[in-house]
Formats: sequence, C-alpha cells, structure tokens
Amino acid sequence: MPQLSSLESALKHYFGYDSFRPGQQHIVEQALQNRDLLVVMPTGGGKSLCFQLPALLKKGLTVVVSPLIALMQDQVQALQDNGIGATFINSSLSGYQVRSREQAILSGKVKLLYIAPERLLSEKFLPLLNLIHHQIGISAFAIDEAHCVSEWGHDFRPEYRQLKQLRQRFSGVPTIALTATATDRVRQDIIQQLGLIQPSIHLASFNRQNLFYEVQPKQKQSYQQLLQLIRQQSGSGIIYCLSRRRVDEIAFKLKNDGIPALPYHAGLSDRDRTDHQTRFIRDDVQVMVATIAFGMGINKPDVRFVIHYDLPRNLESYYQESGRAGRDGESAKCTLFLNYGDIKTIEYLISQKPDPQEQRIAKQQLRQVIDYAEGTDCRRTIQLAYFGERFTGGCNNCDNCCYPKPTQDWTIEAMKFLSCVARCKERFGMSYIIDVLRGAKNQKILQNGHQNLSTYGIGKDRSVDDWRMLGRSLLHQGLLAQTSDGYSVLKLNAFSWEVMRRQRSVFVAMTATTPASTTESQDTSAVAEIELLFQRLRNLRKQLADEQSVPPYVIFADSTLKLMATQQPKTLTEFAQLSGVGSHKLARYGAEFLAEIQAYCQESPVQKEVSNTLPTETERLTLQLHQQGLSIEEIAQQRNLRRTTIVRHLADLLEKNQPVDLNCLVPLPHQEKIRQALQILGDKPLSQIRDYLGGEYLYDEIRLVRSVWRRE
Ligand code: ADP
Ligand code: ZN
Repeated sequence: MPQLSSLESALKHYFGYDSFRPGQQHIVEQALQNRDLLVVMPTGGGKSLCFQLPALLKKGLTVVVSPLIALMQDQVQALQDNGIGATFINSSLSGYQVRSREQAILSGKVKLLYIAPERLLSEKFLPLLNLIHHQIGISAFAIDEAHCVSEWGHDFRPEYRQLKQLRQRFSGVPTIALTATATDRVRQDIIQQLGLIQPSIHLASFNRQNLFYEVQPKQKQSYQQLLQLIRQQSGSGIIYCLSRRRVDEIAFKLKNDGIPALPYHAGLSDRDRTDHQTRFIRDDVQVMVATIAFGMGINKPDVRFVIHYDLPRNLESYYQESGRAGRDGESAKCTLFLNYGDIKTIEYLISQKPDPQEQRIAKQQLRQVIDYAEGTDCRRTIQLAYFGERFTGGCNNCDNCCYPKPTQDWTIEAMKFLSCVARCKERFGMSYIIDVLRGAKNQKILQNGHQNLSTYGIGKDRSVDDWRMLGRSLLHQGLLAQTSDGYSVLKLNAFSWEVMRRQRSVFVAMTATTPASTTESQDTSAVAEIELLFQRLRNLRKQLADEQSVPPYVIFADSTLKLMATQQPKTLTEFAQLSGVGSHKLARYGAEFLAEIQAYCQESPVQKEVSNTLPTETERLTLQLHQQGLSIEEIAQQRNLRRTTIVRHLADLLEKNQPVDLNCLVPLPHQEKIRQALQILGDKPLSQIRDYLGGEYLYDEIRLVRSVWRRE
C-alpha cells in the first residue's frame, strides 16, 4: 500500500488538491486493497475521487457505471481536462467513434470508462469486456448513483438490477458502490442487489457545513422580495417553483428586470431543456427557474444560491434540492419562502388524493416541512434529525443560529408535556396531547376517559401555539420521538425520561419577530480589490471555456480563482502551489492566468478604476507589435503567449478604443456578416453568435468584431 505522503502527492499531481476531504483517503486506501465498498456521502462530498484516484494508481481499466449521459460527459470532460485518460461510450456516439474508443481502451490508453448499465451488459459489449479483462485487466467496477438498484430509492432503474451479473462473470474484480441516499433501507438493498462481498461501508455525515440555511416569510409582494434577494447574490442560482406556469412567469419577469434567467420544466421540448441546461452550466445565464424536474444529473459545482419560492414536498426533497448549492465546498445560501396560503393549497391537493394511506403520509411530510420552516432551533439540527443524525446545534451558519430568537427555560412545561405523553400511553399525536393538557372536552378525550388523568387540564395557562412550539422543539432537540408511519404518534425516549426526572433542562427559542433581512458584510477596500481581480479571472476563465466549449468550472473551480485573487502568485512555482492546480492545468493555463494577475498588480489604483478605458501593460506590448505589422501568430510567438491571449488583448484594445486595425485581422465581408448577426442577436456569448452564423466564422473573428460593435 502506498505511503500517506505518496497518496497525497498523487492527489496533487492528478487533481491539484492539497488534502483529502473527510473519508476520501481511507476509502482510497481500501479500494487499493481491492475491497468491495459502499460509499454514502452527501452531494458535494467528493464521491468521484474515491474511485478515480484508485483507478489511476491501479493497473488496468476501471469501469464506471453511470445512469445519465449528461453526467458522464461532464465527468469525462473534467478528467480529460486534468490530462487523465478517460472516455465514455453511449448512444450519442457514431459507430465509428465507438470503435475508435474501444481501440483506445484495448491499447491501454484509457484508465476510466464511463458507460450506461444496459450497454455494459449487452450481448455486443460483453465479449469486449472479456477481452479487456484478459488483455489489460479490469481494476474495479464503480457503480455511481447506486440507489438506482433499489425500488425504495427515489430513482429506481430496472437495468441496474442486472449489474449483479458482473459479480458472477468477473468474480475477482472489486465493486465500489456510491450514493447520496440517506436511508438505511436503500443501503441494505444496494449491498444485496449488487452482491457486494463483506463491503466496507463509509457513511459520511449529511451535514453540509458550507450551506447557509434560512427561511423567510413570503411577503405579499413576493416577486419583489425574490428579486431583491437575487440582486444581493453573485454567481449562479436556482429558483424552484411548484408549477410550470409559475416557472414561466418568474423567468419572464426576471428577464424583464435584467436578470439573465431561463425556465426549465417538463413542458419544454427536449431540445430547449438541454439548451437551457447547457447555457446555465456554461454561465451564459445566471439563474435557472425550475420545477423539480431540474436537478437530477446536474453536476454544476458552483451554484451559489438556491431559493424555494414555493414549499418543497418533503424535507428530504428540500435537503436534496437545496443541496445542489455549493457542491464545490464554497459558501452558498439556501432560502425557503414560507407562505401560509401555499400550505392551504397543498392541504387541499392532499385531501384530493384517493388513497388514505398516501394522504396520511403526505400530511405528515407537509407537517415536517412546516415544522422545519417555523422551527426556532438550528436548521441543521432539524434537518439532520430527520435523517437520524444527532446534531447539537449552534452551527453559526443558519438564520436561527446567527439571529437567534430569545430562549426561555421551559423545563416545567416540558415535564408536563412529556408526562402527558406517558399517561396517554404513547398512543397519540401532538394535537391530542395538547387537547388533554389544555383540558379540552372533546368526544375523543371523553371516550378514552382521559379527563381523569392527572395531567388533564394542567396546561390551561398556555396557548395551543405555545404547546405546539414546545412539542416541536422537543422533537427537534431529540428529547421526544415520533413514529413515521403517517400517524406521527409521540414516543418517549431516554432523553424524555431524563427531562421528567429533572436531570435535564429544556430551553426553547421563542418565535419573535423575524430578523431584519441580513445585510452582507461591509466592503473594505482590500476586499473590493480582491473581488475586482476575481471578476477578471472569472472573465478570463469564461473566455477560455467558450473557446473549448466546456463549462467554466472545468478549467478552474471558484475556490481556485479566489486563491489566485487573494495570494496573487508571481511565478509558476507559486502558482502550482494553489489548491486546484494539478500538473496538467499548470502547463495548460498557468502562464495565461499569471499574466492576468501580473497585469492587474501592475496597474496603479487609478488605472484600475478606469481599467475599462485604458490598456493594461501587457495589452500595450501586444499593441506595439501589432502596429509594427506582426500577425497574431507572430505576436504570440514573440511574446511566448497563446494565440487566444493575443486575440483577447486585441479585442480588449478595440473595446478601449485603441488603434487596432480590424481590417487586417478580419476580412471585410466577414465583418459585415458578423455585424448583422450582432444587430439581430445583441451582445451574446461567442458560441451563440457562432451557432447563429452556422459555424462558418472563427471565434477570434467574432470576438474582434464584437468588441468594435460594443464600443460603438
Ligand atoms: P459528489 O459526487 O459527492 O456530489 P463530486 O465528486 O462531484 O461530489 O465532488 C464535488 C466537488 O468537490 C467537485 O468540484 C470536486 O472537484 C471537489 N473535490 C473533490 N475532492 C476534493 C478535495 N480532496 N479537495 C478539494 N476539492 C475536492
Ligand atoms: Zn444553525
């Protein structure tokens, strides 16, 4: 087994990361020992690395089973951008492409193959798999989204059931199953259905520390409230709504208010959906307004906010949907709008369900969502309790922790409440217990003879709402339990008894007036400086991404750009130290980003302010050579920079009204055509303009003409 230090240096070499995320190293070590593994990590936990790094360190090919084509392409793209031999085979490829990829695999050039289960197990593919096994070896099967084998999961796919065959055919090859599902039932199913042999099970905490959770009462002017919230954010965001109609309406309004937004729901054509998704992933639009149809298979790591404009269906969906924010580990914000009118609508919809059992479960789930939204405890405590994880609170990253409502000692009331649960023999739900406490004279109580209990009527001094708040808080704090069969029967646990024996005090946060809306941290000038550079690096990243038609995050993560902006490396060696810079990316992008940082540092403060109008130092050098009559290639060669960098300089120079001669860069007829397109489309990303023109013009040409057009 490799030494600790060698694993870490492999991590740096291939992926550019300085350290493992929690759990990763241990999993990698066990994968290297060829053990079967079940990895359960929340979204953004870093599951992929758990099979990717072993794949690179072991002999042979690792076969990755993945259900979604979009997901495959993303992952392969990211790996290739790190210089890693990865490929996928799926229905989007021509027969010729498939054969050439198969050849590449047999020649040993590929370390990771992504493939859908039905193709992997097809009569056509199995012989090839055998051949691979004999010629170069199969180092592991990695089953991504493994919950798809389970009918109990939220995304059952019958093809996944066939994967057990792999066990029989390739008995010596270890299997790694990965999922973000939180329930125990599904985990057991995965182990059984995939035939894992004495798997080592890794269960990460479901606490997503980088996410800020908050709940806002939905105001009358809810659209204005939404707009204001979005304007406070930077970066990409998702707005979830319940209906298609609302999605369309909000997307339309946002666009009118100057926020680049697109709708996404099942009513759009496949083509539009794919197109909207791609434009979101590539940062061409900032906001996606969507029904829950959006999200599965979206791997965008740099979503900075998720807003639920309407109530989610249940707490698990809320956790998963809001969890699409901040996969990259950078901070992100999750906001839930709470509106009592919405609750009424959902209650009505539930009452229309024909099956009483379904109704009961839906009601309980709605109750849990409301409890979360109205809850005064740490939001994490409430969420994690739902997954059976105990969290003591005080996360400092949710509204209830950051703007706490005042707490009061309610030990005596809690003792009354819990005793009442005990006296009623743990057979009733919260409303009933409160009725007994408040001495209600309803039919059910009289039938049960509960008017004779010692706890009957001892809680008259408190309102129903008070008792409900206490009951909820006891549940959230884990001092009381509740059945999950749809009936929500209250049950006592060991902590309840401690309270009743006075061994434990109970504090309850009071629902006070809602906190004033959070004002973001004050901008000091140093922060503003860093932010400015960060924005410039983002622009550079976007340009490079567009040139290659890849999402910007594939080039560098936000966190890496932030490190560049704060540390401002001056040499390639310094640059290589940054987390997120592996050897391949260093060689590919290092010089370009360094040049941008240097250019920024050399500008005087005054220049920075007018940097929109004055050329930078490096641009000036390019301009000089251009004026001497050198072609773009010659300038690139002489300055030892990439061609695209020079084009960017020239484009920026044009925008800054500097004497660049467009006519010797772009033929006149081309200029005219591109101008016409711009006239019609407006200021759009290069890829869109190029598509519009039928792909006949070079990106460089379009960029240069667009700059002049902008200036004019
Ligand atoms: P999951 O599949 O569990 O949702 P991913 O494998 O997509 O998560 O990883 C989420 C993000 O975290 C990706 O952007 C990935 O590059 C990043 N990441 C993974 N491992 C590390 C690490 N050790 N250090 C820094 N970033 C990491
Ligand atoms: Zn908290």
